[in-house]
Amino acid sequence: MAELLKGMEVANGMKQRLIDKNNELIAKGVVPCLAIVRVGGRPDDLAYERGALKRFEGLGIRVKVAEIPESATQEAFEREFSEINGDPSVHGILLFRPLPKSLDEEPVKKLIDPEKDVDCMCAANIAKVFMGDDSGYAPCTPQAVVELLKHYEIPLAGAQIALIGRSMVVGKPLAMLLLKENATVTLCHSKTVNLPEVCQRADIVVAAAGSAKMVTKDFVRPGAVVIDVGINDDGAGGICGDVAFDEAEAACGAITPVPGGVGSVTTSVLAMNTLKAAERALLRPGGRPEG
Ligand code: NAD
Repeated sequence: MAELLKGMEVANGMKQRLIDKNNELIAKGVVPCLAIVRVGGRPDDLAYERGALKRFEGLGIRVKVAEIPESATQEAFEREFSEINGDPSVHGILLFRPLPKSLDEEPVKKLIDPEKDVDCMCAANIAKVFMGDDSGYAPCTPQAVVELLKHYEIPLAGAQIALIGRSMVVGKPLAMLLLKENATVTLCHSKTVNLPEVCQRADIVVAAAGSAKMVTKDFVRPGAVVIDVGINDDGAGGICGDVAFDEAEAACGAITPVPGGVGSVTTSVLAMNTLKAAERALLRPGGRPEG
């Protein structure tokens, strides 16, 4: 039986550190605050929002939710986003994407204050991830994968990692974060030839393809670690990952479940980034409150 790598254990491991940091910042006169910007009411956005609100409440970190109607014009959306962006009591902003088809997210990627961009949507923060510069914010899901691997003390330096998926949201930034940990990363995608064989050679297989149950037992060798980032409709009202869990679990050494794996760590990373943003605000000239 493979070891089950549970996201809640990682989140619980991060909890006290986050509570202590939040209290330390409040004692210094800054009340860390995340703004969630949601356009419309997509079920997956609402599900993530509920999870984030619960996690932040458990940590005592403030959250404001700005709900913008799906019918908003581009101009009205950008106006409202700019107001939140300019609000000095807001330290981090999470914008749910993709936006409805009627709205363009490109202008807000340029508009967002890089210091508040806690889910890494602007070019400056993406560049920092690629430069290995820690002064920005890594996107929450890729960082959650790294936090999970570190929590379970899975060696990364020198490890062979096959990463399936090259999107800007997950695959590419995650490849950079794993490279920074001195792993040898093979970035696979839909045109990769002999994908099962490439993955079979890896110590760690990370699936972020958005293709239900595509990672079968043929992708994993005995003892390998399997990290499933995928969230797919299982056709029965629930969700499933990119990994065919039962057969992969029988073949590998350790594996994350879906749900209950990587997804359970992302809101803790969001909290970590929000606290980092609040701390950086405090350190800026004029950031420290009087008294
Ligand atoms: P995407 O569709 O933008 O990118 C998918 C990538 O996988 C592409 O690079 C594509 O080349 C590759 N790919 C697709 N099918 C493949 C196949 N059969 N073989 C090899 N490569 C293949 O998706 P994304 O936004 O990167 O998200 C990936 C998955 O992660 C989705 O299931 C998404 O729902 C999930 N996700 C989870 C979280 C989380 O918090 N756990 C957050 C974001 C995304």
